[in-house]
Amino acid sequence: MTKYGFLGLGIMGNGMAANLVKAGYDVTVWNRSPVKCASLVAQGAKQAKTPEAVTASCDITFAMLADPEAAREVCFGPEGALAGIGEGRGYVDMSTVDEETVKAIAISITTAGGRFLESPVSGSKKPAMDGTLVILSAGDESLYKDALPAFEKMGKMSFFLEKTGQAARMKLVVNMIMGSMMTALSEGVALCRKSGLNEFQLLEVLSNGALASPMVKGKMPTMLDGVFPTNFPLKHMQKDMRLAVSLGDRLSQPLPTAAAANELFKAARKAGLSDEDFAAVFKILS
Ligand code: NAP
Repeated sequence: MTKYGFLGLGIMGNGMAANLVKAGYDVTVWNRSPVKCASLVAQGAKQAKTPEAVTASCDITFAMLADPEAAREVCFGPEGALAGIGEGRGYVDMSTVDEETVKAIAISITTAGGRFLESPVSGSKKPAMDGTLVILSAGDESLYKDALPAFEKMGKMSFFLEKTGQAARMKLVVNMIMGSMMTALSEGVALCRKSGLNEFQLLEVLSNGALASPMVKGKMPTMLDGVFPTNFPLKHMQKDMRLAVSLGDRLSQPLPTAAAANELFKAARKAGLSDEDFAAVFKILS
């Protein structure tokens, strides 16, 4: 049976690794703060002390880390994932990062004799727990095929986008649209409130028209309640906006709406909202 490793047990990684354990796989986990391994170990996972120990003992290791800095540190740092990669072993980075980070990790892993796949995901805390993520992969196709049984436990749909870096780009495009939609929705709710309109009626109107979406139906009620349980931390949304705007810079693609939305998310971080849900950007507009 394939031995799987999992590095990074945050909001997303916890649910994703749990689905591999529940499916009966041999899973070894590691997290920077070891305490987050406890629930997985209680469900039957093994716990390793370093990323190196995970990649050295598993056929395929998945990583789900905060940002480019974390992805690089876990791979290249002391006792990092790279140090344990042997001939033919697989490293699948599922974090949302930029293509430069993906390519740097890919080159190092393949030079060390391993195989590399980038596989960022679309979906949030609940889809991670339910195993219904949408998985976007690019890189080594043989590793993609070998990882598919695990992807089937973590997601409802998988895409192979071929060349390394393409999945990072696709993921940034998706989140750039989502971040811009969130700031537009926030402005709409704020204007509705200032206009003396009934915001619950706005929710009903939106939910029954062309703008009906899981995001409107899921996030707008949190704005109306003023409570923002963290499914997708605002700091990660701002990271994605920043990386998308930077991609647009490099390609000379004007992104005026996304750039403005990025500024709102930056202002929200400055206001201390980094660890709240990304819908909390509403707070700085209302
Ligand atoms: P999270 O809850 O903040 O978890 C981040 C993980 O990265 C934790 O395991 C954390 O370890 C680890 N980490 C951070 N800095 C590190 C470092 N320097 N060295 C080692 N480990 C480090 O984030 P998340 O929501 O699970 O998101 C993980 C990734 O998935 C991000 O790239 C995010 O953009 C993406 N994503 C998130 C969602 C979502 O809805 N939440 C959806 C799709 C994609 P500690 O526990 O020790 O802090």
